[in-house]
Amino acid sequence: TYIVNDNCIMCKYTDCVEVCPVDCFYEGENMLVIHPDECIDCGVCEPECPADAIRPDTEPGTEFWVEFNRKYAEQW
Ligand code: SF4
Repeated sequence: TYIVNDNCIMCKYTDCVEVCPVDCFYEGENMLVIHPDECIDCGVCEPECPADAIRPDTEPGTEFWVEFNRKYAEQW
């Protein structure tokens, strides 16, 4: 899965949302999140992000963000 991190806060570009084939972005007041169970790992959103906020969960240190994205994707 891919996740959104805090670089997204106040970014306000939504190019990533437009390219996602499964519509798994959820929008809060200040940032977006990806539902980690709905993401099909296609990777097309990553280069669309001007803030470098979309990262694969294979990167070290992303465990916190996976849970953060899951929590808020379910709330928003
Ligand atoms: Fe959507 Fe693909 Fe990005 Fe996952 S990797 S959030 S499926 S565009």
